[in-house]
Amino acid sequence: MDRKKELNTLTENILAGKPIGIEAYRIIVDMPPRDVPMLMAGADRIRNAHFGSEIHLCTICNGKSGKCSEDCAFCSQSASSKTTADVYPLLNREKLMAGGEHVSETPINRYAVVTSGRGLPSHEVASVAQALGALDSDRIKTCASLGILGPEDLRVLKKAGVTRYHHNLETAKSHFANMCGTHTYEDRVKCVLNAKREGLSVCSGGIFGIGETDEQVLELALTLKDLAVDAVPLNFLTPIEGTPMAHYPKVSPLRCLKIISLFRYVLPDTSIFVCGGREASLGDHHSQIFEAGANGMMTGHYLTTDGRTLQKDLEMLDRLGLKAMEKYSG
Ligand code: SF4
Repeated sequence: MDRKKELNTLTENILAGKPIGIEAYRIIVDMPPRDVPMLMAGADRIRNAHFGSEIHLCTICNGKSGKCSEDCAFCSQSASSKTTADVYPLLNREKLMAGGEHVSETPINRYAVVTSGRGLPSHEVASVAQALGALDSDRIKTCASLGILGPEDLRVLKKAGVTRYHHNLETAKSHFANMCGTHTYEDRVKCVLNAKREGLSVCSGGIFGIGETDEQVLELALTLKDLAVDAVPLNFLTPIEGTPMAHYPKVSPLRCLKIISLFRYVLPDTSIFVCGGREASLGDHHSQIFEAGANGMMTGHYLTTDGRTLQKDLEMLDRLGLKAMEKYSG
């Protein structure tokens, strides 16, 4: 069968909800750059079948920055990196709430507090839980991303009204030790499983351009499928001076689009967001993330790098005939 026919068969089988064997995804892994537009056409159909023209918008607040004990090689907040990233302790309750109150009047429907470090200490988890729990849940849904937490701390968040926990696996298990030596893949997976057990919806994805192969992109997508996470954020490396990956090249626009499409094929009805590195890696192609299968994006600034304004992103959706998703309770 030629590649086009094989991809069409895969697309139709996914749209029909048929079980897909791992081998069937290999056609995507092996796809050369010139065929990425063909791949995107299929991914767009799958996205449209599950999400229509609605795009999910979320935004984050960097609640505690820098001085992290861990050594993730891409991260400007690691104490082992020599960067100019901000260093500050946990923001007070008013500041943690301010971002959520501000966006609750906009089409953004999720607000997350993200903190640096292996895992936030319990007394600080309680402070974040109180701040997020005090936001009007009819207007804005809240997420927390506080590192590797155990069941008790996750329960505190859930009890306070936080609906989703974010914890990236970052990359494939077979590549993880190449980018982090201070904790294990299993530590991250365990946190995801704990969050699910505590009844939190889970957002977990990764970062690309950190030396992984396309096969390892598939490996990560399949792991997240097995874990049945609810949302998958995709980030593209912004090489930052002072980190061990400062010299890494940016991911090319076609590879970004291929990665997004691969995730859409593997996770047909899971929310896929494009987050860090959207503009920096995709450049003029960044509005094509939806054609490639994404149904969400992070708007506003990222943790330590600048993003785009909500206004610009809403104008882009309008130009594309898409619209921000209505408020929802997922
Ligand atoms: S990614 Fe998280 S755990 Fe890793 S160095 Fe950065 S802040 Fe620390």
